[in-house]
Amino acid sequence: MQSRSLQISSLLEHAALHHPSVEIVSHVNAQTCVRSTWQDVARRARRLASGLQARGLEPGTRVATLAWNTHRHLELYFGVSGAGSILHTVNPRLFPDQIRYILTHAGDEYLFFDLAFADLVAELAPSLPHVKAFVALCAPQDMPVLSLPRPLLNYEELLALGDEDYAWPALPEDTASSLCYTSGTTGNPKGVLYSHRSTVLHSWTACATDGLGLGARDSVLLAVPMFHVNAWGVPYAAAMCGAKLVLPGPDLSGERLFAHMKDEGCTLSLGVPTVWLGFFQYLESLPEAARAGLRLNRVVIGGSAAPRAIIEKFERLLGAYVIQAWGMTETSPLATIGNLLPAHETLALAQRFDVQARQGRAIFGVEVAVFDEDGRRLKSGEPGSGELKVRGPWVVSAYYGNEPGSALDAQGWFSTGDVARIDTEGYVQITDRSKDVIKSGGEWISSIDLENLAVGHPAVKEAAVIGVRHEKWQERPLLIVVPKDGATITAQELLAYMKDRVARWWMPDDVVFVDALPHTATGKLLKTRLREQFADHRLPTDALQA
Ligand code: AMP
Repeated sequence: MQSRSLQISSLLEHAALHHPSVEIVSHVNAQTCVRSTWQDVARRARRLASGLQARGLEPGTRVATLAWNTHRHLELYFGVSGAGSILHTVNPRLFPDQIRYILTHAGDEYLFFDLAFADLVAELAPSLPHVKAFVALCAPQDMPVLSLPRPLLNYEELLALGDEDYAWPALPEDTASSLCYTSGTTGNPKGVLYSHRSTVLHSWTACATDGLGLGARDSVLLAVPMFHVNAWGVPYAAAMCGAKLVLPGPDLSGERLFAHMKDEGCTLSLGVPTVWLGFFQYLESLPEAARAGLRLNRVVIGGSAAPRAIIEKFERLLGAYVIQAWGMTETSPLATIGNLLPAHETLALAQRFDVQARQGRAIFGVEVAVFDEDGRRLKSGEPGSGELKVRGPWVVSAYYGNEPGSALDAQGWFSTGDVARIDTEGYVQITDRSKDVIKSGGEWISSIDLENLAVGHPAVKEAAVIGVRHEKWQERPLLIVVPKDGATITAQELLAYMKDRVARWWMPDDVVFVDALPHTATGKLLKTRLREQFADHRLPTDALQA
């Protein structure tokens, strides 16, 4: 067989050749929608690569972005990596100090930014001596007036100087292609460097039937940010199969997402649970007739556990199947995917939702295993849970800048920090982050299970469960709830609703109502903050404190 290198540029050239007129719809902001095609993306990515190389871009140079999901960001995905350089997508929702740390650690030489981040760039620029040039992602007439210590370029002018017929270099497939930092809740962020090979292999998984099933007949609404683990690899996979992409820009409100789905005939969308909470808040305010004409049939949810209530609403209100996926920055991210097995096809819906509420099964390429506290590998279906470990060709080997293999144990496993069990059918169920698990009298209580249950109550918008100190049991669960706008609910009502749906000793010892919950920059519950906030909370069940 031929030994051909797997390269990101070949994904784009394939899309340009075989799906040239498939649309890329880009909502740059509320006023501007730019329509282009895969052929346009290829032309402009080639111009970008050659324009940057004319300005001194070298193989391996890190090129950072602070940008929303737009056509320009998509061009950067292909143009920078295709040229042999490394695209470093930075999460603009992080604190400026974290962004500075990440840009410095990566040693980025170029920083491309959306106009919305111009002030942030001006604030950071003096402390980023390694950045040779800043590039505003806009047309020349929209250039911001900024005082920066090094040149400020315009994206469209850079492209205008580039060569549309630029030939992509032939690269070894292990060449680094992109870089993302984990947004850990403690310690400094850590970089994960992806390669052309890992990216192309991962794309095949997204396109596989029992992967995300992405294909040429899909119109994909990308509601997961392009700065979060390469938007779950979908930009690359969409090029591989020639899917239409709808890029929503900065506005992920329920109203806008619904409008895009309708206007662009979206069949598939992807996003974290918080995005869908907002989506249903809007959808349920509409008359039922307004839902007619939607073509949505699959929704991929990951990043945090998909609440069963959301899985159910997608099915019952829109006839869309929720594919829950589990993964991390360190796993590119697809690792387990929640598709059905033949035995599930005849299940009643309520039982099928139970299957979908798990995090899915291993896909070829990623091995998953659970180990107990003594390091023994648990068999599928064995009672109890333990640490989830993974290994495979798109799983991290070492964090950026560290020794190869340093993130792995002796058997090559990467420890995810998630606590999980694997059932007899091979579905992984994440019960907690290891640091969030509630240890009550030596047994573990899953905060995720309790949160999902609470969110199933019609008056609950969002819920978090944390362990609070308890004299007798060491820790007991405290349920913290954000009620839905306009809804009223008491602690007693909520506990009565939960009582028959969970083991008695798992029941929260107390319920607190709040206006909002803290989130990380990627939309996960920020439990470290909640634990600080409720460190002195007195549980009514704690006789010694009462
Ligand atoms: P990140 O690297 O920011 O994508 O975060 C990865 C972490 O998100 C995982 O280790 C899990 O703790 C969590 N996560 C991702 N997907 C899921 C899911 N479907 N269910 C539960 N937790 C998830």
